[in-house]
Amino acid sequence: MDWVIIAFVSFLFPLIALVVFVFSSCEHSNGITILEMFRFEKDIQENLLPLFGQSDCFDMAKRFKLFVATNVDSSEISGKESQLGPTEQNEYNGEILIAKTDVDYLPRFRCYHELIHYCKDVGEGKKVCMIYGKDPQGETQSHKEQIINYYAAAIAVPRNSLVKDLETRPNSKDDTQFVGELMKKYQQPETAIRRRIEEVSRLNRIGLF
Ligand SMILES: [Zn+2]
Repeated sequence: MDWVIIAFVSFLFPLIALVVFVFSSCEHSNGITILEMFRFEKDIQENLLPLFGQSDCFDMAKRFKLFVATNVDSSEISGKESQLGPTEQNEYNGEILIAKTDVDYLPRFRCYHELIHYCKDVGEGKKVCMIYGKDPQGETQSHKEQIINYYAAAIAVPRNSLVKDLETRPNSKDDTQFVGELMKKYQQPETAIRRRIEEVSRLNRIGLF
C-alpha cells in the first residue's frame, strides 16, 4: 500500500493544502476573508451578543453612558457619516454624533458601528479620548473600518436569527418584499440586510458551523 502513501504525500496533500489556502485567502466582496468571517462570528456569538442581549443600539449607548445625537449636520463632523468622540459632559463616557440622512434605518446602523468602536477600541466603562469617524459609504478604505462594519451588521442582524429567516426566503428573483420585511424586523437599512444575507448564506454554504 506504499503507493497510497506516496500518492497522498506527493499529490493529495499539496492539493488539499492549496484548496485550503485558496479558500481561506479569497476575499469577500467587503474585503473580509472567509477565515476572518469565521473568527468574527465566533467572537460575536461568544462575547458581543451576550453583552448586547435584546437591547437595541440606542439602549446600548445609554448603558455605555454614551450621549447620542442624530440629525447632525455632516459639516460638524468633518463630512463623516458618524463619529464616536470625547464629551465635555461629565456624566457621559463619550458621544456618538450621527449625520442627518433620509435613508431608512441608516442612523441605527451607524450607531451600531460607533458602539463597536467603543467596545473594541475604547473598552466598556472607559472614557473616549479620541475621535473615531465613519467615512461616507464607498470611501471606507481601511480594513479596520470594514471589520467594524462587519461587526455592526452582524450584531444588528445576528446569524442564528437570519438563518431561520432565510428558510422562508421565496425562490423568485425579486426579493424586494422579503428584504423589506427583514429591514422592518431588524430595523436596518437595505444595504446592511443584503450584506448580511450574502455573508450568512456564504457561511452556510461552506457549512463549517
Ligand atoms: Zn469607524
